[in-house]
Amino acid sequence: TVYLDWNATAPVWPEAVAEMLDTLRHAWANPSSTHAPGQAARRVLVDARLRVAAFLGATPAELVFTSGATEANHLAVLGTLAAAPEGRRRVVMSSVEHPGLLALAARLRGEGRPVDLIPVDGQGRLDLDAAQALLGDDVALLSVMGANNETGVLMPLPQLAELAQAHGVPLHVDATQLAGKQALSFAASGAALMSVSAHKIGGPKGVGALLVRKGQALAPLIAGRQERQRRGGTENVAGIAGFAAACGRTAATLAEDLARQLALRQRLEQGLLRALPGTCVLGHAAERLPNTVCLRFGELEAEPVLARLERAGIVASSGAACSAGGTQPSHVLLAMGLDARQARCGVRFSLGPGTTAADIDFAIAAAARALTPLLAETEAGMA
Ligand code: PMP
Repeated sequence: TVYLDWNATAPVWPEAVAEMLDTLRHAWANPSSTHAPGQAARRVLVDARLRVAAFLGATPAELVFTSGATEANHLAVLGTLAAAPEGRRRVVMSSVEHPGLLALAARLRGEGRPVDLIPVDGQGRLDLDAAQALLGDDVALLSVMGANNETGVLMPLPQLAELAQAHGVPLHVDATQLAGKQALSFAASGAALMSVSAHKIGGPKGVGALLVRKGQALAPLIAGRQERQRRGGTENVAGIAGFAAACGRTAATLAEDLARQLALRQRLEQGLLRALPGTCVLGHAAERLPNTVCLRFGELEAEPVLARLERAGIVASSGAACSAGGTQPSHVLLAMGLDARQARCGVRFSLGPGTTAADIDFAIAAAARALTPLLAETEAGMA
């Protein structure tokens, strides 16, 4: 099977597995313990923090380890709101954020908190004029993802950082899909807060981080003395060590991996467009991640398409894995102006460092064989 769902999760690097096992075996003690075994675990944690921070262009003190990007996003939003100056109660985010963040937005609204969503255009590009119009001196936080997980469309982070600064509003970037897909520097980003997740870069699931710029006010979600009082609970030392190993492994070949993935993604797009008439690339005119393409095969719904593809040996996804299992239209594609029917048709292929040219050639041929009869059926049905 050819795995083309790297945006959902990446296979765990052998280096990460090895470092996790080693930590579980030899640094299993509580890193807060003052005895020698505890201090051995503490050293693993300190070393891992340095390596993850270096990968993200941050300082170790800016890093708060969490259970993943969903928790980091919650900490960014709720922690900023709880510590925001009087009069700043409103949250502004994009309409294409990860479902976990939009669910939090719905909860906040239910509690009487104002939350405004910035629209995107037909290509999935953020409307910067609308963002500007929504910012004001009552805003506690601007939260926008670095790149969309379904379409790969990049958000205009430098412009957002400038806008946020002009309004005295902290910018939170959910960089879960940026890490490992472009060089990332928290220091240069202009963001006050940034979320990342280990499992998208070949680390384990259940580990991530929130980067918090020095001086940024943030109330903890989980009280306790760990992570400089910003996240209580005994640290997931082995998971964090695996995260650090994945950062190192990803950084080692990042530039060449990205160039290769971009070339392979373009080959996949062109091959599918040529083999299957009626195919459209969603967000084709926008700047996108090198590894991601979201397509619509005519008016074919994603579910039967994905089932056929899997039988033909290709694993892909209908946008967010978190919303798979239903025939719900994608909120991202709806926000791009597709109608409810078309918004059920998005099929995402996402590549990774392990994807080969042979994988892509196989995928094009297998998809052509698997989907041509489906397309013919619907055409006959419509005629
Ligand atoms: N944000 C984005 C943009 C994502 O793609 C994901 C992963 N689906 C998350 C947040 C959630 O990350 P985690 O699985 O670590 O909670």
